[in-house]
Amino acid sequence: MIQLKSAREIDIMAHGGQILGATVAMLRREVRAGMSTWELDEMAETFIRSHPGATPSFKGLYGFPGSVCVSINDEIVHGIPSRRRVLDAGDIISIDVGVKYDGYHTDSATTVAVGAVPDESQRLLDVTERALAAGIQAALPNNHVGDIGAAIQAVVEASGFSIVRDLVGHGIGVAFHEEPQVPNYGKPKRGTKLVPGLTIAIEPMVNVGGPGTRTMPDRWTVVTVDGSRSAHFEHTVAITDGGPRVLTTA
Ligand code: MG
Ligand code: MG
Repeated sequence: MIQLKSAREIDIMAHGGQILGATVAMLRREVRAGMSTWELDEMAETFIRSHPGATPSFKGLYGFPGSVCVSINDEIVHGIPSRRRVLDAGDIISIDVGVKYDGYHTDSATTVAVGAVPDESQRLLDVTERALAAGIQAALPNNHVGDIGAAIQAVVEASGFSIVRDLVGHGIGVAFHEEPQVPNYGKPKRGTKLVPGLTIAIEPMVNVGGPGTRTMPDRWTVVTVDGSRSAHFEHTVAITDGGPRVLTTA
């Protein structure tokens, strides 16, 4: 069942989303070669908890051990922070974070270049970020979930990269994952109709090579089957009469 939010609930989510946006901006600034992914996790948890009423959504969600997911190079999503996992120059790292504030979740992700990266990797980041922007622009009342997917798909397919289909965006609010699913592909005017009060996480995951995915033996980390690099950008967005309201900006 889809849980529509009142204006008051959306304002609460926007407050939590500001904390999340600031967390993501802080982590983007802190990423550097030589640091472990565990350090990023610790920074995120400390920063989120420094805001009264805010906690990291991911900690314990479905049993996940960290406050952030950190996924490097061919890892698509759900990488587990680790003291043994150290960033190298030339890596790309996706950081996915959630904040629970006053009973409501928000969800955001970004992908960062560690030092100088190959041109193809930089293009992957640019395309994925542009695909997210296109998806957000399509999140209009009276459009459908398929319009968001179609807008994302158009940007990604024009680039020659591929969209991950095994993982999708989602409704979000009191529960971290709510209905509807929000695929990063689709056809205009298909799927759930977008109405004011709907709050969704839009999150394109884009691979340099093929779309295939595989889950590692740790049962969390999802990687590309062909070993190609993958990027992930995400915002939580409210559908409003005035258009899409991005809730997870700093
Ligand atoms: Mg996320
Ligand atoms: Mg999400």
